[in-house]
Amino acid sequence: MDVTSPSSDGRQEASPQPKLRLVNVAKTFANAIQTVHALNPTSLEIQEGEYVVLFGPSGCGKSTLLNMIAGFEEPSSGEIILDGQAVEGPANERLMMFQEHALFPWMNVIDNVMYGLKWEAAFRWRFLKRRRRALELLQMVHLEEFARSSIHELSGGMKQRVALARALAPDPQVLLIDEPFPALDALVRAKLYTELQEILVRTRKTIVSVTHDPREAACLGDRVVVFTGRPGRIKAEMKIDLPRPRDINDPQVSSYAALISSQLENSDETPGSQT
Ligand code: ADP
Ligand code: MG
Repeated sequence: MDVTSPSSDGRQEASPQPKLRLVNVAKTFANAIQTVHALNPTSLEIQEGEYVVLFGPSGCGKSTLLNMIAGFEEPSSGEIILDGQAVEGPANERLMMFQEHALFPWMNVIDNVMYGLKWEAAFRWRFLKRRRRALELLQMVHLEEFARSSIHELSGGMKQRVALARALAPDPQVLLIDEPFPALDALVRAKLYTELQEILVRTRKTIVSVTHDPREAACLGDRVVVFTGRPGRIKAEMKIDLPRPRDINDPQVSSYAALISSQLENSDETPGSQT
């Protein structure tokens, strides 16, 4: 098992042509009453096709970092670079898979998946092309039979698969996932982890996901980046050297999960509940 700590200035070792680069990205929220230092300067390089999990205690700035990569928030300092270009605002090249409540309840399943394609130049005035693409994605998440179902007719796990199909439909270069499976029971989660990995292997997307669950981190990540408590900074990184698809209940996944947790144990920083 390969655990590394960042060098003293927090920089990671340079690799050739990373897909995504975070260069000293920091975030402070300030209003008239208070200032919150959410994230210390953080540098990270992510390769094309890599699945990186950001792991850390509640409130350490994981969602904030993901929102900055998505372009919903601006860094207070530092830069986010995709393929050599600075990230400025949201774009379909970087899409977030939102939690199930972000689906539109007044649209059926296929309309939800087609929605994001409306803004894509290649699909804009082409209803049938949008529909074909949406059906392709619904097939990939094994929901083609439910294309015309209402969102409220689906189980929690099915809604998450619709959310995944919707995020993948515009073929983003980077998929961002923020604790997507908190409200699901263990069996449904285990199945979704397997499905998600199958899709990853098939599409070779670059993925950054966020979790406070060490088993989820070990099950999904090619690499896990461990953050300290707020203001977050990178404390350690490790490669998860296991074949896919991985089973969340596999003992090897558990050993990695224990190693990931142990990275936080020397301090008061223990993973808390989701925020
Ligand atoms: P995590 O996802 O790791 O649980 P967040 O990124 O959501 O943590 O939050 C990090 C810190 O920044 C928290 O203390 C949170 O209260 C604060 N924070 C997040 N978003 C905002 C905001 N829009 N305004 C003010 N404070 C915020
Ligand atoms: Mg969060």
